Amino acid sequence: MVECPNCKGDMRFDRKVRMYVCLNCGMMLTRNELDILREEKKEKEEYIVNEYLEWWQKRKQ
Ligand SMILES: [Zn+2]
Repeated sequence: MVECPNCKGDMRFDRKVRMYVCLNCGMMLTRNELDILREEKKEKEEYIVNEYLEWWQKRKQ
């Protein structure tokens, strides 16, 4: 199942337009766009985790 990056709803692949369409908000994305958005999200999450770890390490000292 593909998760909508906008509203976290279900996305289905529409063969007619060859795009992923969100069943909840109607957002349409190509496979490529979806991959880019996912990659960006992952990077942001990693950044937040790193910031937290830094903060935690400083706190211990
Ligand atoms: Zn959506």
